[in-house]
Amino acid sequence: MADMTLNDDLIFRQIEIGPMANFVYIIGSKATREAAIIDPAWQVRDLVKIAEEDDLRITKILVTHTHPDHVGGEFGGQSIEGVAELLDLCKAKVYVHKSEVPYFKSIPSSEIVSTDEHTSIDLGSTTIQFIHTPGHTPGSQCFKLSDRLVSGDTLFIGACGRCDLPGSSPEDLYFSLTQKLMKLDEETIVFPGHNYTPPQKSTTIGAEKAHNPYVRFPNKSAFLAAMGY
Ligand SMILES: [Zn+2]
Repeated sequence: MADMTLNDDLIFRQIEIGPMANFVYIIGSKATREAAIIDPAWQVRDLVKIAEEDDLRITKILVTHTHPDHVGGEFGGQSIEGVAELLDLCKAKVYVHKSEVPYFKSIPSSEIVSTDEHTSIDLGSTTIQFIHTPGHTPGSQCFKLSDRLVSGDTLFIGACGRCDLPGSSPEDLYFSLTQKLMKLDEETIVFPGHNYTPPQKSTTIGAEKAHNPYVRFPNKSAFLAAMGY
């Protein structure tokens, strides 16, 4: 089921939003008109409007990791709209890795679903598998659905997420990249968390294996040395 090619029921939208070139994703079911939104931040009313234009109802909020540019919150002296504001506009559950649940102090626990590497959910006839990919943050997770992977700030086109931030772990990031993501089918289409290499907005696991220097180091020590450790 999880490895089937893009099915007829799936609606998949990639939306660039906000001043940091974030990508938000809306995944919908044509049959049930339900939608999951990944990393809603910045103008959340606009995101709801985009879903409504597709006749979709947002019932699930999926979080790749809890940095404010992905989920809202205080950042650099400004307040970014995000998950909390979206919950005022739609009745949805928030899926966040168990290690980052404490970030959402202001959200009632009944609205939070704590996830781990065994979590998978169904949206219409599409199964979304959660892959725990710590490194950029402890609870970073990627979402695999159909022939696609939404990779958050773990894997970018030709690059990987920063691992010099509070809570980052370069060793974990190396493991997540090489032992988890690079083990996926080479045809898997990768959709990252930022538009850092326009006009290209997606890649494949095979292309990253061939060209991304961060997944091509011969061993962990070489990766750590390149990252400054
Ligand atoms: Zn981040």
